Amino acid sequence: MTTAPSVRHWIDGRAHRGSGTATAPVTDPATGEVTGRVALADAADTRAAVASAVAAFPAWRDLSLTKRTRILFRFRELLERGKPELAGLITAEHGKVLADALGEISRGQEVVEFACGAAHLLKGAMTENASTGVDLCSVRQPLGPVAVVTPFNFPVMVPLWFVPIAIAAGNTVVLKPSEKTPSAANALARLLAEAGLPPGVFNVLHGDRTAVDGLLTHPDIKAASFVGSTPVARHVHTTATAHGKRVQALGGAKNHMVVLPDADLAAAADAAVNAGFGSAGERCMAVSVVVAVGGVADPLVAAIAERAARIRTGDGTRANDMGPLVTGQHRDRVAGYVDAGARAGARVVLDGRDVRPDGPAGGFWLGPTLLDHVTPGMSVYTDEVFGPVLSVVRVDTYDEALELVNANPFGNGACVFTRAGGAARRFRREVEVGMVGVNVPVPVPMAYYSFGGWKDSLFGDTHAHGTEGVHFFTRGKVVTSRWPERADGGIDLGFPTTE
Ligand code: NAD
Repeated sequence: MTTAPSVRHWIDGRAHRGSGTATAPVTDPATGEVTGRVALADAADTRAAVASAVAAFPAWRDLSLTKRTRILFRFRELLERGKPELAGLITAEHGKVLADALGEISRGQEVVEFACGAAHLLKGAMTENASTGVDLCSVRQPLGPVAVVTPFNFPVMVPLWFVPIAIAAGNTVVLKPSEKTPSAANALARLLAEAGLPPGVFNVLHGDRTAVDGLLTHPDIKAASFVGSTPVARHVHTTATAHGKRVQALGGAKNHMVVLPDADLAAAADAAVNAGFGSAGERCMAVSVVVAVGGVADPLVAAIAERAARIRTGDGTRANDMGPLVTGQHRDRVAGYVDAGARAGARVVLDGRDVRPDGPAGGFWLGPTLLDHVTPGMSVYTDEVFGPVLSVVRVDTYDEALELVNANPFGNGACVFTRAGGAARRFRREVEVGMVGVNVPVPVPMAYYSFGGWKDSLFGDTHAHGTEGVHFFTRGKVVTSRWPERADGGIDLGFPTTE
């Protein structure tokens, strides 16, 4: 489509019309109506965004650390004040309920607060007299212009996993947000500008794969942080590393919740419902599989069904618990997994396909769905569904549960519900995922720890934020110095030793 965009790029400190003529629709998932059009960058727009980040880099790198972090302190305050407006933008394009949108902003804000401590995080080390009269020091320096590519499901939080740390460390950024939920990125750009961020330090390039590939292959982009589905994460990692860039590419998930027979049943059922249906299951840390061990299955399924049936599905701006799915196509895809699961023999305990939402008929609705007797061969088990569908797999023993979780190609998060310390400890040690919960269903680490999965949930070796995030956005340099008081030694071609 070539209609004029209502959501434009943000380049060099201002809205940028761009030369690309293509646009994509922006939709309100609660009504199904097209509410705007987002610009889709062409190659020239991508070059313009990168050129802006390149031009801004030297002065930003050379600005004192104190001045850089003071801008982040101001940004933190503006973010606090801007929460209602930002949450409104998220709900209008993603569909999640306002309380959930506010929650994701708060989690993103925690990374801003972490980055405000950059002075401490960027400190190097020094060794005096490592060799006679020789001192060593290590410093970490910014990389240059970096690309951040983000998914639809957290339009504020996921960009904030990276952007505050990248800029605190002295890098400049081109953010390519999801074209499905583009507006929040521009709001963040305006808040950063208001906080005093110089033009070009943070740019927003809207677009699709053309924009992403343009960034990944651009010689001036030094690193790429990506969050999205596994096939695209793999593509981003392959392409960007082939072009000499540092990459962290976080992919999809299939998070299991193992419930042992001794678990507190009510707490486990509450957790399964909240973690399974929060944000309509469109969270990379959503629980999508409950592994019921032994005799816990029947009472657990009954307790989850009773709770899930009470969830109010509807317009996220009203008093509902769960909003619509992001697009009609995605809703149909998720419903298709329910159809396929039922055909393959799963029992549909609660059927969200029959939902009566509190919202217009044109919204992309699917209510909470509970499938019991799911088996590992079913597509609803093998694939990332990314919707309000909770699958229950029944196993006889703890060993079987652990084998099931570890056989899954994804390794984002997993949790165990039990009262037994030994069982929990074994899970913590043996489960092959990056983030583990013990009686905690969505174990999202705090900003000062790092977020990331294993296996097909992360390509590259560095997780997001925390000390790994600081490491990702900086590179090390070690300086060896000697200040001889007099010229001595003469010519010596021997290997330097530490005497
Ligand atoms: P997506 O992979 O479709 O899109 C992510 C980003 O990549 C978007 O900006 C999109 O424009 C771009 N993109 C899409 N196709 C591309 C292609 N072929 N080449 C280059 N770029 C492309 O993901 P989504 O649907 O927006 O988000 C949902 C996915 O993100 C889920 O799989 C979810 O698990 C995952 N996710 C993971 C995490 C995590 O931390 N691991 C967090 C949030 C979301």
